[in-house]
Amino acid sequence: MRFSANIEKLQPSATIAVSTLAKKLAAEGRDILNLSAGEPDFDTPVFIADAAVEGIQAGRTRYTPPAGIPELRAAIAARLSERGEHQASAEGVVVTAGAKQALFNAIFTLFGPGDEVLIAAPYWTTYPTLVELARARPVEVFGDEANGFKVTAAQLDRAATGATRGLVLNTPCNPTGAVYTLDELGEIAAWCKDHDVWLLSDEIYRDIHHDSSSPAPGILSLPESGLGPSVLVDGASKGFAMTGWRIGFSYADPEISKKLTALQSQITSNAATPSQVAALAAFSDVAAAARDQAAMGEAFRRRRDLVCSRMRELLPDVPFVEPAGAFYLYFRVDGLHGDGVDSATEWCSKLLREQGVALVPGGAFGDDAWVRLSFATSDEILEDAFRRIATMVGVGVTG
Ligand code: PLP
Repeated sequence: MRFSANIEKLQPSATIAVSTLAKKLAAEGRDILNLSAGEPDFDTPVFIADAAVEGIQAGRTRYTPPAGIPELRAAIAARLSERGEHQASAEGVVVTAGAKQALFNAIFTLFGPGDEVLIAAPYWTTYPTLVELARARPVEVFGDEANGFKVTAAQLDRAATGATRGLVLNTPCNPTGAVYTLDELGEIAAWCKDHDVWLLSDEIYRDIHHDSSSPAPGILSLPESGLGPSVLVDGASKGFAMTGWRIGFSYADPEISKKLTALQSQITSNAATPSQVAALAAFSDVAAAARDQAAMGEAFRRRRDLVCSRMRELLPDVPFVEPAGAFYLYFRVDGLHGDGVDSATEWCSKLLREQGVALVPGGAFGDDAWVRLSFATSDEILEDAFRRIATMVGVGVTG
């Protein structure tokens, strides 16, 4: 069958594929521990869900303007203004069906044939595909393992060519959990500005920051003079446990946002109205949001500590990135090969087959020597998963 050149390189999302397989095996009755999912295990906070129900009952079920309900755009702009000196304007906010659509809108609007887009690696699996859908060329730039794979301006410099038009950066990072400091972000933003390269900063995990009671630094925390052409992507999915509601947003110069809105108006019109009403509560009721986010943050921090200590106890020779944000543990399995297993993909298949633990092989993120474990699940499941991993690699576990 012939398809258009637009989707020549299109593959289904690798992370969703693993998670779907794990759910299918569980539905067939297998005892599966699914640590492949990219979503918080918490229910959406009640004050947010209640707002949506009340909104539906009050008839808030029709189309909205493509860029979103004006009060929601204003509430998001107010929250963005708290991130630093920058006074964010509601005209710069475009509400989307998840952060994924905000990324698609930005990449499709800004890049095209002949353009190269740098992608800080390891990367979230969707970025290169979105760049290819725009018929531009994704270029992976790996940071140093010793630096949690965070990229530096010198590494960007080596990867850039005359065709480089953009950089996709993700902090806190999926899959590593690494968080860029404000200084590191400042250096990268300055490099982008000097080279007239668009900076797309995906900060969807910003609220899940383990080593501080404040969210992770982002580009709006930088002085305005240090930031060139850029698009911030964020949303409600991870920080408010709202993955299924599909609410994300982009923030950019209002002129760019008009183009992003025009594109969206031709594709999906607007993000689902009841979901926007729910997000309005999430972004407006600051006290309720802070209370619920603090409780979720506390659980994620405890689980982060748990998985790191099990790594040190049970797999002391296995390198991993100590996650400072998000809810993923990224560890290296090429030292654990054997029995005909010679990639993380095969290692993960064996783990799923023999021990019923689903992890995502690093091939999905640009390096198939590593795997990603999601710790957005209960302490009991995490303990059980580590027991099973240790059994497979032949380490005894007591207790
Ligand atoms: N960006 C990153 C780094 C992600 O990990 C994800 C989801 O896993 C997204 C964006 C997409 O978020 P949303 O569910 O809001 O589309």
